[in-house]
Amino acid sequence: MEWKDHAAALGAATEAAATFLDGAPTRAVAPRADRAGLARALGGPLPQEPGDPLEVLDALVRGADPGLLATQSPRFFGFVIGGTHPVALAADWLTSTWDQNACLYSVSPAAAVVEHTAAGWLLDVLELPTECSVGFVTGGQMATWTCLVAARHQVLADVGWDVERDGLHGAPQVHVVAAAERHGTVDRALQFLGFGSGSITEVGVDGQGRMDPAHLEIVLGGLRGPTIVVAEAGNVNSGAFDPFDAIVSAAHRAGAWVHIDGAFGLWARASTARRHLAAGAEAADSWSVDAHKWLNVPYDSGLAITRHPAAHQAALGHTAAYLVPDDDSRHDQMNWNPEHSRRARGFAIWATLRALGRRGVEDLVERLCDRAQQFADALSEAEGVEVLNDVVLNQVLVRFTDAPNPDAHTNAVIAAIQQDGTCWMSGTTWQGRVAMRISVSNWATSPEDVDRSVEAILRCERLARQSEPDALSQR
Ligand SMILES: *Cc1c(COP(=O)(O)O)cnc(C)c1O
Repeated sequence: MEWKDHAAALGAATEAAATFLDGAPTRAVAPRADRAGLARALGGPLPQEPGDPLEVLDALVRGADPGLLATQSPRFFGFVIGGTHPVALAADWLTSTWDQNACLYSVSPAAAVVEHTAAGWLLDVLELPTECSVGFVTGGQMATWTCLVAARHQVLADVGWDVERDGLHGAPQVHVVAAAERHGTVDRALQFLGFGSGSITEVGVDGQGRMDPAHLEIVLGGLRGPTIVVAEAGNVNSGAFDPFDAIVSAAHRAGAWVHIDGAFGLWARASTARRHLAAGAEAADSWSVDAHKWLNVPYDSGLAITRHPAAHQAALGHTAAYLVPDDDSRHDQMNWNPEHSRRARGFAIWATLRALGRRGVEDLVERLCDRAQQFADALSEAEGVEVLNDVVLNQVLVRFTDAPNPDAHTNAVIAAIQQDGTCWMSGTTWQGRVAMRISVSNWATSPEDVDRSVEAILRCERLARQSEPDALSQR
């Protein structure tokens, strides 16, 4: 085979992909192979001589398949990991095929216009101000970083400090205020930003993990100087939303920039039934959102949105003699992203939004919330099973209490579920207690998938109880 034989290579990939996707609903969700098996299949020294591309693809498929965690299964509920909508996958393949460098309008007019269009659609669906700037980044982590780098510019410019030129040495201290239950990517972004995760002043939370606005007022009253408040739409454990009206008005009274980490939760704004959860979020200064979670486009895809294009561009914009800037800076993605060369991620988002339409996105949001409620209803009826959170969105926290040590028992149930393979959930610690976290994030999950999963969970719970000698002796 010649390297120029595109059809043969893509044909092999299409066949392998279809086999994988058709099998996703029935295969065991957990990987079958262990590390040593994967290393045998995929490791070894680099061959000296070229190999046949079709044989290489075949070796990749055979070697990798047993080591895949089937996150594309409609019964995968681990972490907060979305599936992939077929149109998103196809558009993503074309993105690789076209291999555009989505850095400037002049380098790929199509990628620039598609991203600009998709940005407008996203602002429409999320009901955010139309003047916002949007950066297409790799995920929630980089979206938060991108928004906070814009925030850093603004709050320091407000006190006369040019952080892009002068850096942070000798700069006025920037205070960051965030809830105790924030996502770890906030701390990580602060680490990358040169503020340090130690710059955070913590605000207390309630039983659902929501920021306490009265405590926020007290905290803000004690701080002087440039301040950034980070709030959250969709707690990664409970799915809870901070009370944005109170938070944003208190923060703005104090002259602070408000960022909302809305990796998956901000999508609630696309649904008439759930929008109230994120009411007031539109008044913030920036938002991070994932597309690879709830919108179900392939990894990796996130969005950094700010209502201050000037600050956003001042922090990230880049020019060089050999780069041709566009008349409309919105079309030059390099102004909104930390990358220089980058993948044209917008194609998959554009295709997914266009295929779903506004109503389809709303339906996607509501369906996944309904499936989460179905889990909560079925599990809370079972004996020895406790649902720990108010299920407002797609997250359900479950604890198995019918044992002397519910923490250990819950961990044992999670291990048994992962071993069983019908479905897959991961664990967490919620306000000091071990819990199993169910996140419904795949467009393909049906009510029957939830029924089968509940059955498997209860079966595994019994199994774990029987194999725990302590539990038996005390019953
Ligand atoms: C997933 C998540 C993140 C991180 O997003 P990545 O896409 O993994 O970088 C941040 N915040 C919350 C609330 C999340 O759920």
